[in-house]
Amino acid sequence: MEKRVRVRFAPSPTGGLHLGGMRTVLYNYLFAKQHNGDFILRIEDTDQSRYVPGAEQYIFDCLKWAGLEPDESPVHGGYYGPYRQSERKDIYRKYAGQLVNDGYAYYAFDTPEELEKMRHELRTESNPSPQYDHNVRMKMRNSLTLPAEETKKLLAENVRHVIRIKVPEHETLILKDMIRGDVQFDTSVVDDKVLLKADEMPTYHLAVIVDDYLMKISHSFRGEEWLSSAPVHILLWKYLGWEKDMPQWAHLPLILGPNGKLSKRDGSKYGFPVFAMNWTDPQSGELTEGFKEKGFLPEAFINFLAMLGWNDGTEQEIFTKEELIQRFSMEKVHSGGAKFDYEKAKWFNHEWMKRSEAGRLKQEVKNLLLDKGIDKIDDSFLKKVIGLVKERCVLITDFYDQSYFFFKAPEQYDLASVKPKWNEEKKLFFAEVIRNYELNNVWIAEDLETNFKEIASANKIKPGEVLLPLRIMLVGGKFGPGVFAIAELLGKEETIHRIKKALPLF
Ligand code: GLU
Repeated sequence: MEKRVRVRFAPSPTGGLHLGGMRTVLYNYLFAKQHNGDFILRIEDTDQSRYVPGAEQYIFDCLKWAGLEPDESPVHGGYYGPYRQSERKDIYRKYAGQLVNDGYAYYAFDTPEELEKMRHELRTESNPSPQYDHNVRMKMRNSLTLPAEETKKLLAENVRHVIRIKVPEHETLILKDMIRGDVQFDTSVVDDKVLLKADEMPTYHLAVIVDDYLMKISHSFRGEEWLSSAPVHILLWKYLGWEKDMPQWAHLPLILGPNGKLSKRDGSKYGFPVFAMNWTDPQSGELTEGFKEKGFLPEAFINFLAMLGWNDGTEQEIFTKEELIQRFSMEKVHSGGAKFDYEKAKWFNHEWMKRSEAGRLKQEVKNLLLDKGIDKIDDSFLKKVIGLVKERCVLITDFYDQSYFFFKAPEQYDLASVKPKWNEEKKLFFAEVIRNYELNNVWIAEDLETNFKEIASANKIKPGEVLLPLRIMLVGGKFGPGVFAIAELLGKEETIHRIKKALPLF
């Protein structure tokens, strides 16, 4: 029987969720849905020194906003819980003990001073930071070098210790990576990684294997930075006797910024977001802006994220989530780093703005306007406004500048743009426009434009000379969509009112 597809995103809740993390979420999600499988969110919170309050809730919020919710998680529950590693300590301890008993791992009692001494003594120019490995382990204080009785005594006395994996010398390991193909490792250069720390918490290396096994994970997708740890992980799958259940791996390429790996600092330096949503560091109070608050639509966000390192081999760039689920393939993910281009990300958002129905954008725009103090918003009027201006908005946040004048009459006018060419004829012209518009019963843009132009030609005025003044009367400045479309939406009463109010000031 085919193994059921079960994939996981396994973040450490240490702060904002950056593009790389969100792309891992997305690829996991797409892969799971494509195979009718399960997408699991596991919180890897065993490093107590890096615990950040609020970071876990923030991860849930980001996944929810992006529409990439897991099937199983600490909040969604599931059959394979608990899904928070800090609640699984006993499980890891048991397997660490099993590895020691089977001779694949050992207790190490070396103090920080002893470790430092070793590093100091063995340091050479070609080996500036010597590791704890097969060359060194027999010179250190561990259960391989101490008499069995001594080890027993130290353990009974609860002397601080860790458990390390005993990595063999000269073994060639092959990782079958879905993106990179076969990757070879020589175990001789791999160190004896700590598996269980002195506080009895597992390290990532042990916890990830135990959990991937117990949670029946079929495919492990993670960032390229973990590739160098893969030999330790392959050994653990073997040593724990689970080799035949080892998931298929894929190590996702780095996301690159303007200079090398994309970093949070790039965001503040170049003025673009790197986190999915706003993140405020609880310690420093520093706020890092997110794509959501910057004005990105989740549809656009996942679309450009999917394309950071993948395409389906055609020219198509705009994909809905459903299309991505159908077309995504891990084998087509590039192994080289993917460059993040903020201008291109905005282009995706603009495309999504144009494609989205006004009703889809309504809530986001309403929140924006409410935030800016516009509170009397009629839903059907708002939809018409959105329909008229959305093509002009690259980001949701652009809606304010593009549409506030529909909700607030101008209080100031760009008089400098009209005054120099203003004259008595134009004044009389607008008086006639008012009279004409007052008699108008059908209020649609085309008619308003025709009437306006007819009056202009009857008065021997070029329409071009009175269009700008009309715009400034209606919106206050030289901006906005077609002026007659604005008038149509404002309605008869409001349009005439605005012209009348502005005219004496010109
Ligand atoms: N906790 C690891 C991280 O934060 C997860 C790596 C993995 O997915 O295995 O990057």
